[in-house]
Amino acid sequence: MSADLVTSPDPSHPANLIPSLCAKFWHLGWVTGTGGGCSIRDDDLVYIAPSGVQKELMKASDLYVLSLAAQQSASLSRRQRVYLRAPESGLKPSQCTPLFLAAFTKRRAGCCIHTHSQWAVLVTLLLEAGSGEKEFRINNIEQIKGFGRGFEKSGNLGYHDTLVIPVIENTAHEEDLTEFLEEAMDRYPDTYAVLVRRHGVYVWGENVHKAKTQCESLDYLFQLAVEMKKLGLPWITQIEPVVPTRTE
Ligand SMILES: [Zn+2]
Repeated sequence: MSADLVTSPDPSHPANLIPSLCAKFWHLGWVTGTGGGCSIRDDDLVYIAPSGVQKELMKASDLYVLSLAAQQSASLSRRQRVYLRAPESGLKPSQCTPLFLAAFTKRRAGCCIHTHSQWAVLVTLLLEAGSGEKEFRINNIEQIKGFGRGFEKSGNLGYHDTLVIPVIENTAHEEDLTEFLEEAMDRYPDTYAVLVRRHGVYVWGENVHKAKTQCESLDYLFQLAVEMKKLGLPWITQIEPVVPTRTE
């Protein structure tokens, strides 16, 4: 077990970033009571927070590190994992691990964040109370511009575009969500997030910056959507684009 993999004076090293990001997310109510988490991929190395740790108190030495290429070896079963580095403190690997790996392998993401944000949960409850809808849709809100157009596409969504986030049903064990998350990724090739009913959301991006800002934009939109619903305001509207009239 190599301590070198998680020892660096650089605050932007994944082993230092994960604890600092998780502490921020804890203050936002995204990873309360050890739920939720964050994983970063640096080329072939994947850094993952352990299960059950208090997210605001996590240290670099608590992290697991694995090789993505080794993980995709045909000789390993779906649930088998070979860690390059594990913490010594009797911690257990996160149940989110295969879900984070799905974002890294299927989308070549550089970072994946899982929150138990109440706004995400409330949006899934509102959809369930409606007609059991399997996707969240919203348009004509400025913050939608915080999202990329999709996997391997350049540029971001525009103000008038519709942001669509698929919803999957929760399972008793987090690991069992993996096949449903992967199915949702196949059905929605351009999505950067999947909502989990009565549970939370998984959000990824090609790097830490993009995953974090998309996660923040999404949480903003989920909160806004809940408040809009309370006020009887629709999430989807038809609005004529306003074009500048000045020509000078
Ligand atoms: Zn969870």
